[in-house]
Amino acid sequence: MIRCSTSSEEETRDLGAAVAPLAEPGDVVILTGDLGAGKTRFTQGFARALGVDEQVTSPTFILVRRYQGRLPLHHADLYRAESVDEVADLVLGELADSTGVALVEWGEAALGVIGGDMLEVRLELGPGDDDRIITLSPAGPRWSVRSQDLEKALVPWRSA
Ligand code: ADP
Ligand code: MG
Repeated sequence: MIRCSTSSEEETRDLGAAVAPLAEPGDVVILTGDLGAGKTRFTQGFARALGVDEQVTSPTFILVRRYQGRLPLHHADLYRAESVDEVADLVLGELADSTGVALVEWGEAALGVIGGDMLEVRLELGPGDDDRIITLSPAGPRWSVRSQDLEKALVPWRSA
């Protein structure tokens, strides 16, 4: 578990951008935490660093959006998903495309569907209005081998 903190939305974007170079085809990144915690800000930075030029917004009506960068990026927001079956249809359909990377907001609902091979990024509100605590947990074989690289990439934001 890698514990970080940020104190502005741009810092959270930069943190997301620092993770993106580690992404490989078929990766799944689950973003958990409350509304307004910064899941979309993280995704925006991640997308920017993948070379996506389009503006990334919350896919409110469409639950999954695809962007093209160094790798295809599937950005899902399951906030409005109504059932685990719906989550499975949406997310697994996209993940079947193993050439891309999937970032899934409100990923709690997808945890059971996806299994354990993923990077979980938990964002929480911190003490000040603009403070966020961001905990990254690499899980499963795909991400475990990259955990040291991830720790190095996150040095600027690490907290005790
Ligand atoms: P989520 O996708 O988790 O609902 P968003 O990324 O859409 O969250 O929104 C985060 C909100 O919090 C934005 O309004 C942003 O300006 C604000 N904010 C304040 N401080 C931070 C921070 N350190 N990191 C990310 N967002 C922050
Ligand atoms: Mg969001």
